[in-house]
Amino acid sequence: MIETKPHLIIGGGIMGLSIGCRMLREGLSPVEIFEAGEIGRSSAAWVAAGMLSPRAEAGFEDMDIYEEGLRSLERYPSFLAALQEEVGEIVPEIDRCGALLCATNRDQARELDRQFEFRMRMGIPVQKLSGEEARDREPLLATKVIAALWLEADAQINNRTLLHALREAFVKRGGTVREHTPVSEIIVKDGEAIGVRTGDEERPCETITVAAGAWSSRIGGGSRSVAVRPVKGQMIGLRMTPQSRLRQPVRTPNVYLVPKDDGRLLVGATAEEVGFDARVIAGNVMELLHHAWELVPAIYDLEVEEVLAGFRPATRDHRAVMGRSNVHNLFYCTGHWRHGILMAPMAADTVVNAMLEAKTELAEPC
Ligand SMILES: Cc1cc2nc3c(=O)[nH]c(=O)nc-3n(C[C@H](O)[C@H](O)[C@H](O)COP(=O)(O)OP(=O)(O)OC[C@H]3O[C@@H](n4cnc5c(N)ncnc54)[C@H](O)[C@@H]3O)c2cc1C
Repeated sequence: MIETKPHLIIGGGIMGLSIGCRMLREGLSPVEIFEAGEIGRSSAAWVAAGMLSPRAEAGFEDMDIYEEGLRSLERYPSFLAALQEEVGEIVPEIDRCGALLCATNRDQARELDRQFEFRMRMGIPVQKLSGEEARDREPLLATKVIAALWLEADAQINNRTLLHALREAFVKRGGTVREHTPVSEIIVKDGEAIGVRTGDEERPCETITVAAGAWSSRIGGGSRSVAVRPVKGQMIGLRMTPQSRLRQPVRTPNVYLVPKDDGRLLVGATAEEVGFDARVIAGNVMELLHHAWELVPAIYDLEVEEVLAGFRPATRDHRAVMGRSNVHNLFYCTGHWRHGILMAPMAADTVVNAMLEAKTELAEPC
């Protein structure tokens, strides 16, 4: 019997899993995910805060990224509904909690004014609050908070639960996961990707999708034009008590605090250009906690549950690489920088649509 060649995905983080699920739903099978460590757990997506926050993230230079973020957030309900059909109750819900950008001193308040005007000009729904109004929304904010912006339409999700649900859905639909199996090389012959090398093994395939996050450019072979680097983020997980339960993510330019539905309060995050140095550094942790304590004094008494570092996949212009490459049958989905959880629904659609298009083109008579 002739074995059908599989579609291979390199990387079992949020992108690899989202693409794998969507491929199987579209009838592209069999699909195998090769993961260097543990599916989900070894990824930046495990460390991430899970904010679905295009309006709070909107900067002065990346309006295209903002627009894409909005579109991806719109797709989240159908993305989750499809998962729910497959694995039911374990799928997390979107928490439409809004987000508060706060100022604890005059400089930050001036910066907030600029941010407010920028959002008004761009038509981004935003409300300006005094310190007291901000504390009405979030009673745990320090009296030091003198002004805030309220972004009602931003949201968040439990990204760890989402990774778990995606894995379950992928396997339930017949996908294969190969953990602790790093891909060292993409084998290209005559301009076509024909397989991958993992240790001594070569695995022939139908297509390859590189979704290896910050590591995507480290894999041998493939497309030379894709350049992704790691931007390290250190994150602290605290355990909330009933008295210290925040209602929504709050942030200043120095720190954000994100309450999760499992009782964790995430305090993050650094953004460091230090390569793949995964150490958690005392000074960074101290600064993050200090800024967090200035914003929400009640964190002082909370238990520290975990301290982690993750690597955001960044391109030079912070634009993601999604779709076909210059090598036949080789696709990329990487470079989502600090928006990968937000961007997962749109990225999976973009990459799988590109695959379906490529298949149709091949099927068309010349
Ligand atoms: C501290 C921090 C906070 C963040 N907060 C947010 C947030 O609030 N909202 C948001 O939208 N985004 C956030 N992000 C960004 C988000 O986590 C990333 O953009 C997203 O995880 C990228 O997804 P990915 O699947 O491309 O990469 P990853 O999630 O990193 O997954 C890549 C996977 O590929 C595997 N891999 C690597 N090399 C190989 C190989 N050779 N062979 C096989 N497998 C391999 C890795 O082990 C890993 O599991 C945050 C990131 C960090 C670090």
